[in-house]
Amino acid sequence: MLVGVTNFFFGWGTVARLEDGVGCGIRPMTYLCPMAKLYPKDTINFLRKLTPRRVINATQVIASYYATRWLQKPVVWGKPFTVSFEPTTACNLRCPECPSGLRQFTRPTGNLKSDFFRRTMDDIADRLLYLIFYFQGEPYINPDFLDMVKEANDRGVYTITSTNGHFLNDANAKRTIESGLDRLIISVDGTTQEVYEQYRKAGKLESVLQGARNLVKWKEELNSPTPHLIFQFLVVKPNEHQMEDVVRLADEIGIDEVKFKTAQLYDYKNGNPLMPEQEQYARYFKKKDGTYGIKNKLQNHCWKLWHSCVITWDGLVAPCCFDKDVTHRLGDVKEESLHKIWEGGAYDDFRTKLLKGRSEIDICKNCTEGCEVWLGAEV
Ligand code: SF4
Ligand code: SF4
Repeated sequence: MLVGVTNFFFGWGTVARLEDGVGCGIRPMTYLCPMAKLYPKDTINFLRKLTPRRVINATQVIASYYATRWLQKPVVWGKPFTVSFEPTTACNLRCPECPSGLRQFTRPTGNLKSDFFRRTMDDIADRLLYLIFYFQGEPYINPDFLDMVKEANDRGVYTITSTNGHFLNDANAKRTIESGLDRLIISVDGTTQEVYEQYRKAGKLESVLQGARNLVKWKEELNSPTPHLIFQFLVVKPNEHQMEDVVRLADEIGIDEVKFKTAQLYDYKNGNPLMPEQEQYARYFKKKDGTYGIKNKLQNHCWKLWHSCVITWDGLVAPCCFDKDVTHRLGDVKEESLHKIWEGGAYDDFRTKLLKGRSEIDICKNCTEGCEVWLGAEV
């Protein structure tokens, strides 16, 4: 039951539980379990932050999603129960499928400001089940990032971030634990420098691993149950042979969990050098004519659009994380509250359009909503 609840809210499933797989010669797919498993400390921490208002709001949101599917027209009850806030657009790395890495944004770039974050949280914190501190960019580049995490934590909001792991020196690792961050995802897409840098271009694997060790050390020294530490391994052709190794490595360091993630590829129709050899690790399948298609069916509904949204560093509201350049701008929280925007005309138009035909919306065509993003997990 609890597994289902946490999966439903997070949209994630656990892929590899370290104690299950390490050291017993099990191959990766053996511990790509069909059911997510619970991490008791993390689950209790999440449940502890629930309040009646948050639970009632989430119930309204879920009900509105199913009412919409039934009526085939947008029904909106409640307010978004998860928000992705973008700390920055800047990044030190150059990953090939990322606008930050490619320095290819068409929108303004910059850092989220603490006072703007605080004002927005005044409006939304009491209904949030969790706050995701990333969209584009490397969060730790924003010098105020950990202060904002602390601010959210002081309001009882469960916080999550994702990092490339290059800024976790001893002092930052200690500050991370002290900020009260609940979940930290560290990208480790290879267990040797040669493989790692094929996707994380300009990255230094040893810095990332040292950063992870620093976090584990400070968690122990400060006797802190948080953050729940995750190694995220984006499965691409150059690294798919290292899936077992990353589980072993995480176990050696003391990381709580490993997640294997399938990659979204912009150019996939005629193949892509990053496309995994083994189709089970890809979001795409090879057709009889040799071209590729998306595995999931483009159904005319979208859970993301009913329970979450994205706010950029400068306040623009996007429907989801697939709209990296905010080409579908649904509002601006500098001008009106997120709750007004959520119920406003632009959102209603976008939801109506999606219900009529998802394939008619550019960002929704190559979207994995409804597809397995976390291998072996329920999504
Ligand atoms: S580390 Fe993340 S933000 Fe930076 S270039 Fe890579 S994918 Fe983009
Ligand atoms: S791209 Fe479209 S279908 Fe996909 S999550 Fe975003 S709004 Fe939903």
